[in-house]
Amino acid sequence: MTQKLLGTLFVIVAIAMFYYFITTTYREATMLLINGTVYTFDQQNTVAQAIAIRGNRIQAVGSNEGLVQHYQADTVIDLQGNTVFPGFIDGHAHILSEGSRLHDLDLVGTTSPQQIARLVQEHAKQFGRGQWIIGRGWDQNDWDVKEFPTHEILDRAAPDNPVLLKRIDGHAVWVNKQAMERAKIGSGTQDPAGGKIYRDVNGLPSGVFVDNAMDLIYSVVPELTEEEIETRLKLALEECAKFGVTEVHDMGVDLKTINVYKKLIDRDECPIRIYGVIGGPGETWDHYRNQGREIGYGGGMLTVRAIKLFIDGALGSRGAALVEEYSDDPGNRGLTIDSEEHFEAMCQQALEKGFQVCTHAIGDRGNNIVLNVYDTVLSRRSSNVESPRWRIEHAQVLLPSDVSRFAQRGVLASMQPTHATSDMYWAEARLGPERIKYAYAWRSLIDAGAIIVGGSDFPVEGVNPLWGFYAAVTRSDKNGYPQDGWYFEQKMTREETARCFTRWAAYGGFEEENKGTIEPGKLADLTVLSKDIMKIPVMEILSTEVEMTIVGGNIVYQKAVTTQVP
Ligand SMILES: [Zn+2]
Repeated sequence: MTQKLLGTLFVIVAIAMFYYFITTTYREATMLLINGTVYTFDQQNTVAQAIAIRGNRIQAVGSNEGLVQHYQADTVIDLQGNTVFPGFIDGHAHILSEGSRLHDLDLVGTTSPQQIARLVQEHAKQFGRGQWIIGRGWDQNDWDVKEFPTHEILDRAAPDNPVLLKRIDGHAVWVNKQAMERAKIGSGTQDPAGGKIYRDVNGLPSGVFVDNAMDLIYSVVPELTEEEIETRLKLALEECAKFGVTEVHDMGVDLKTINVYKKLIDRDECPIRIYGVIGGPGETWDHYRNQGREIGYGGGMLTVRAIKLFIDGALGSRGAALVEEYSDDPGNRGLTIDSEEHFEAMCQQALEKGFQVCTHAIGDRGNNIVLNVYDTVLSRRSSNVESPRWRIEHAQVLLPSDVSRFAQRGVLASMQPTHATSDMYWAEARLGPERIKYAYAWRSLIDAGAIIVGGSDFPVEGVNPLWGFYAAVTRSDKNGYPQDGWYFEQKMTREETARCFTRWAAYGGFEEENKGTIEPGKLADLTVLSKDIMKIPVMEILSTEVEMTIVGGNIVYQKAVTTQVP
């Protein structure tokens, strides 16, 4: 009896002492962020004012008074009312391609082949005779004559250099004659499986190569050296930090690129985290399936535990595999660029080695094949194994009956809201009025219980995640067209969109324990915005700026303060 009493007394004294201790003693933090609107996206959707960071992790989240009273930090940052989000995670993008885009000839927004030819001619002056001129970003849908161009105009612009210009979606290239000569392409060259060579009336290749046919040209373009890769990666990584992106799921990495990432990380020159997704079968996959997954290299900066596969092409170049023919191209049902047998064998290998599969599928036929194969392979798995969280990248056009299968099998839909608002001008022409209802079908997927991993697919779209945020909640373009949104019933709410680019994207990389919300114990990956994007009128989302980007407690980007000249 006395013992029990003593025990109770001891507990009471201990609690009192602990309370005394925490209310009177400062705890040390590395950084204190105060006076913010902090969207934690925790279970209760708490909105806080302040964050204490210690080392690379969040130590506490709460009110200004609460944190200032209890935490003493080396650095105190007054957010002056700015909004804090969990660091934006881009769930699908291509860092090296973005770096090359920043480095190479930029053709995004060009309005005619003539304009492009002038840019090529200008650009060629910086290059020696015979050097490759690489460009990216053209889209014939933006031209008066919405047809694929031909080589002649490029022959005249750069007679002494091979020229290779990638279409905006990366699924077609436009080249000049010198490039075709290097690749030894002539009238006798056959269309490869899963690819198409456009030809003139005489059957001669006219300069545009689609999907697998692009390899005929790529095979003669010299590979980038590690130094060239490093220059490009750094350009893109810096750009990501500037737009508040704290992690990218980098689709299609190879060993060489992974090595450069590791060097940058070792030298503390990689500002953001990388979730590297191996670019299909080949040397990199062989390396990793022997060595096993690589999780959290360099203190959580780089993870490689997923493989990217492809089933079809893209809608813009009519390479997406559809069940029925294209509405604007009778007889064409698009292309599957892998056999079902090979695709299934790759999925099986990935399952056995514990790798996540991320498969590109755009058309309803493409998505259906992937869901079927995932079903087959995943059903062989013993039920006590954790969900491998296999993903479909894009999941753009779905059979109505396939929508619910995502949640049922735990398949994640990795989608890019800006694709809808970039494609909306011509997508219905390709698909017709019925299929379009299940295209970019975010609402249907979320309502059916699916998790959407949000991304941008840069450089196909811009890096800025706020453009994706805006597109997701409006389904309108940056001019506000159409006013009520294109097939607006498929919109996401602001909260869902926020989760797409934070917690759900973290889940898509098995990282929700460490990222995706602002909670004590999680990594201090934060994005500070100039406006409250959860509340402001939608158009203002587009003019919202990133004030600061924090990765693992380090400020990796801070907007330059414009000083007033008196
Ligand atoms: Zn992509």
